Amino acid sequence: MQDVIKTLPKQAKDKHNENKKFFAKLKKKPPKNLDYIMQELHDEEFRKTDCLKCANCCKTTGPLFTDKDIDRIAKFFKMKPQQFIDRYLRIDEDNDYVLQSVPCTFLGADNYCSIYEVRPKACREFPHTDKKKFQQISSLTLKNIAICPAAFNIVEAMKKQIKV
Ligand code: SF4
Ligand code: SF4
Repeated sequence: MQDVIKTLPKQAKDKHNENKKFFAKLKKKPPKNLDYIMQELHDEEFRKTDCLKCANCCKTTGPLFTDKDIDRIAKFFKMKPQQFIDRYLRIDEDNDYVLQSVPCTFLGADNYCSIYEVRPKACREFPHTDKKKFQQISSLTLKNIAICPAAFNIVEAMKKQIKV
């Protein structure tokens, strides 16, 4: 898995123009059953991919934290939300709360998340490949395929399956 992760940014870069064109066409005319197709491709990929052997998302990007996430995680630590913010978060250029540093401070050496049960919504949903109306998050997906081997494979499978 580590070899795959190492070569992923280059592979994503090589495919960038092809992927951009594909998503531009997909946006114009998405298949009626796109949500269904994406759910199938997502489930199939994650049957094969073991996130515990990867954790590249937790190591390189980290999520944004909504107010609900902050309240829930602060409660888990028996902290006040503001204490949690002061200790772990900063505000980024889009005015969102994000981690002060990556790799994520809650990631263990064994790639387990120490706050798994209460982790941010963005972590639960990453890489968003089973999101409804997937064609609408193409810019984000083009970035995610350089980080997430599963997202990369899912986009490759999409291009084979969906003729645009
Ligand atoms: S979601 Fe993607 S990047 Fe994150 S651990 Fe799983 S395969 Fe790796
Ligand atoms: S909170 Fe957990 S799942 Fe989210 S980035 Fe940190 S270690 Fe990964």
